[in-house]
Parts: sequence; C-alpha cells; structure tokens
Amino acid sequence: MRVLDSKDALRESLVELRRGGAETIALVPTMGALHEGHLSLVRAARSAADTVAVSIFVNPTQFGHDEGFATYPRALKRDCELLAAEDVAIAFAPSAREMYGGGEADVTVDPGPLGAVFEGASRPGHFAGVCTVVAKLFGLFAPDVALFGEKDYQQLLVIRRMVRDLDFPVRVLAVPTVRDTDGLALSSRNTALSPAEHTAALAIPRALADAGAAAERGERDARAIADEMRSALACAPGVEPDYADVVNPDTLEPLTALAADARAIVAASVGDVRLIDNAPLAAVPAASTPGAPR
Ligand code: AMP
Repeated sequence: MRVLDSKDALRESLVELRRGGAETIALVPTMGALHEGHLSLVRAARSAADTVAVSIFVNPTQFGHDEGFATYPRALKRDCELLAAEDVAIAFAPSAREMYGGGEADVTVDPGPLGAVFEGASRPGHFAGVCTVVAKLFGLFAPDVALFGEKDYQQLLVIRRMVRDLDFPVRVLAVPTVRDTDGLALSSRNTALSPAEHTAALAIPRALADAGAAAERGERDARAIADEMRSALACAPGVEPDYADVVNPDTLEPLTALAADARAIVAASVGDVRLIDNAPLAAVPAASTPGAPR
C-alpha cells in the first residue's frame, strides 16, 4: 500500500496504477481513526472495483468553531496498518495546507436545501465543507465508485445530490451502519466517551429501536413516533438531544404519516461528544391489518 501525503504523488500513483492494469477505482473518503464501520466500506469497495483508495483527512472546513476539530481523534499509523491488511492500494493522508494551499478554499460547493436542515441547521457551513472536500477528492482521484456510510445519512443524500446536480461521473454506493454489540453506532468520536457516557449514549439506539418497534406494531402516525423518540431522549440521563424526527428518506421532509422506507434520524450530545444515528422504519402496509386482503 502506498501512503501518500501530496497531490502530485497521488496523481503519479494513480497514473501508474492505471497503466499497470487498474480498470476501476473505488474511493472511500474518511477522517481516519478507523473502526469496523470504515472497514466495511473498504470491503464493499473491494467488491465494487479492482483498486481501492482511502483518503484520511480531518477536514477543517466542515467543523464550526468549538466543534472539536483540534481534539478529533487522529491515529494515522494504526489506520495505515488496518488499511494495508485490507488490500488497499492507496492511503491518501494530506495536511490541510496540502489540501487547501494554506488558506480555506475560495470556491466552495453550495450543498443546497438538503444541506440546510437537521445537521446543516445545527452546524452551519458543515455540508458546504463536506461537499467541497468530497468534490476535491473526486477531482483528485477520478474514482469510478465512491462509498459512504448510512451512518451519516444526511451526508449520503447531500453527496448523492451533488453528484447528480454537478454531473460527477462517479457511482455512489451506500453501506449500512455497523454497530457495537450494545447497539451504539460505531464512530471515531466514541473513543471520547467515558464508560458512563457510553452507557448514557445507548439511549440513542434504544430510541431508534423503539421507533422501529412502533412502526412494526403498525403505528402509522410518524409524528407520534418522533414525539416518543424526543421524550425518551429528553428523559435519558446525560443525554442532550438536538433533534429526533421521522423523515422522507429522499427529501428529509418530516412525515406526518409513516411511509415506506421512512427514516428515523437523531442527533444528541453526550458530554462533549455530538452523536448522530438513524434507522429505516419498516412501515407495516395498511393492507396487512388483520382481516385485510394481502
Ligand atoms: P468519518 O471518518 O466519520 O468521516 O466517516 C467516513 C465514512 O465512514 C463516512 O461515509 C461514514 O458514513 C462512514 N461511517 C462512519 N461510521 C460508520 C459506521 N458505524 N458504519 C458504517 N459506515 C460508517
């Protein structure tokens, strides 16, 4: 595996790989401090292309002030060991200076309305930072496929929209969320949780599981499900909820009636750590109520 920190070296390596027979390249953009969630993206990438590249870049432009850019976990050596064991061809880990040439980008990508709600409302500028860095990575790697986790569901939608609206010639593949055995979605940020905070954070997957159970029981009032999640999180000790809602899986519009593939989305802080999670809600079709024809 080549570990590269400059754009020039990356371009050269990509040319060499293509000359050497690489036909399809899959890119997995990450901020490092890798865990099994990232590795499931890498494994999906390996099935989707003959050559896998991973970027490791804690992108300053997607962090607001006081959003923990400086304290975000960094573990480059271990990350590279994990990626080498996964048969990754290139790990690209540039500095912020290398990515942005010393200043912030003058030209940025406007994420549009999908980037203005939920995470975008709570973290102004976040998705402009995400879209801009991902657009730069697409420009640098020219990948055939790029993989993103459903864990960051809104990010996945915003990137898909950017690819559609700006005609990036890349196929975006989504990978399901990988969870700890106790249900907490894996996140690089989890390492900053104390054991007590980790236990408190389990209120988040529990609220999502309860929402899923309500949907499976036949509850069709999406607002009631969202209210239930909000009050469960509000009552959870050590948890400071930001939002909890049941939304259309393509537009993120809050639903009143549960529709097929509705998505429950949650953001909450536990101590200093902001956590996000989401889950699909399987709406029971109206036709499956007892006695109704199937
Ligand atoms: P990050 O390093 O947190 O920016 O994440 C890089 C990529 O990994 C993003 O596409 C995330 O959605 C994805 N990812 C992060 N955590 C998980 C997880 N627990 N399961 C699946 N994908 C994840």
